[in-house]
Amino acid sequence: MGITVVALGGNAILQKGEKGTAEDQLRNIRKTAAQLAGLIEEGYSLVITHGNGPQVGNIMIQNEAGRDKVPQMPMDICGAQSQGMIGYMLQMCLRNALKQVGLNIPISTVVTQTLVDKHDPAFSHPTKPVGPFYSKEWAQERMEFHGESWIEDAGRGWRRVVPSPDPKAIIETPSIKSLVDQGHIVICSGGGGIPVIELEDGSLAGVEAVIEKDLSAEILATSIKADSLIILTDVNGAALNYTGSGETWLEEVTMSQLVRYYNESHFFEGSMRPKVKAIMRFIEHGGRLAVIACLDKAREAALGQTGTRIVAG
Ligand code: ADP
Ligand code: MG
Repeated sequence: MGITVVALGGNAILQKGEKGTAEDQLRNIRKTAAQLAGLIEEGYSLVITHGNGPQVGNIMIQNEAGRDKVPQMPMDICGAQSQGMIGYMLQMCLRNALKQVGLNIPISTVVTQTLVDKHDPAFSHPTKPVGPFYSKEWAQERMEFHGESWIEDAGRGWRRVVPSPDPKAIIETPSIKSLVDQGHIVICSGGGGIPVIELEDGSLAGVEAVIEKDLSAEILATSIKADSLIILTDVNGAALNYTGSGETWLEEVTMSQLVRYYNESHFFEGSMRPKVKAIMRFIEHGGRLAVIACLDKAREAALGQTGTRIVAG
C-alpha cells in the first residue's frame, strides 16, 4: 500500500471559535486520532503533518506578555515549541486510539527544519499574518524600531506579516525515512517545518517566516517517496467559484484541468491555493494519488473515493 502522508488542517486541533485550552485541543485531537487509527488499522503506513497557526500565535502572545520577566524567543524557536506541543498531544492520543483497537505501533515526533532559499522573493514581500491584532501605535513602534512589517486589517487592527517562502527540502528526511522503514508512525514537519536558510559556510540558521504546511507536506511526501498525499481540512475539496454563484466542487480532475483552474484564480491565496499547488506538484513529482478532503472523510480520501483528487496515469 506504500507510505501515505496525511496533512492535518487547523480544524484537526482546534475548531472555529474555541479558545485553545488544553481540553479543547485534546478533545479535537482525540477525534482526529480515531480517524487516523482507522487508516492505520487498514494497513496504511502514515506520516502525519499538521498546521500550527493558532498554537504558535498563542506562544507568541505568551512571549510578548512575559517579555519583562523572561527572554523573548524568535519565531523559529516558537515554531519548534509548537511542534513539540502538538506532536506530544498527537502521539499520546494516537497511541491511546491504537490501543483501543489492539494495535501497538511506535509513534515518533520529529522536530523538523525546512530549508528555504535565502534569495526567495517572498523575503522582500512579507504576506503571511501572524499573531494577534494590535493598535496602530504598537505596529508603528515595531516597524520603526524592530524592522518588522505590519498591515492594517480593516476594522480589526494591525497585524504583523512575515514572508512565506517556498519550501525546498526537509532537513530531517533521512531520519523520517529510517523511522518509517522501521514501521514507525511519524509526526513531523509541523506548521510546515521551522524555516531555515543555508549560510555561505553551509551552516543552517532559523529565519522569521512561515511556510505553508501543505507545500512542505508535498516536499516531505516526494522526498520519502510516498504513494499518496492526503490533505485533510474543513471542506471536502476545492471548488470553482467558491461561495459564489455557480459554485462547483471538484472531484476527480486531470492535471491539465487543475492547472487551468489554478491559473483562473479559483483558489484563495493562503488557504486553498497552496493545497491545490501541493497536490499538483506531488503528481508531477511521481506521486500516485493526491487528495484534498474533509477531515471526517479520511478513509474514503485515502481510497481516492472523495474530495478533489488527481490520480497519476
Ligand atoms: P487548513 O488549516 O486546513 O490549512 P485553510 O483555512 O488554510 O485550512 O484552508 C481551507 C479553507 O480554504 C476552507 O475553509 C475555505 O474557506 C478556503 N477556500 C478558499 N478557496 C477555496 C476554494 N476554491 N474551494 C474550497 N475552499 C476554499
Ligand atoms: Mg492552511
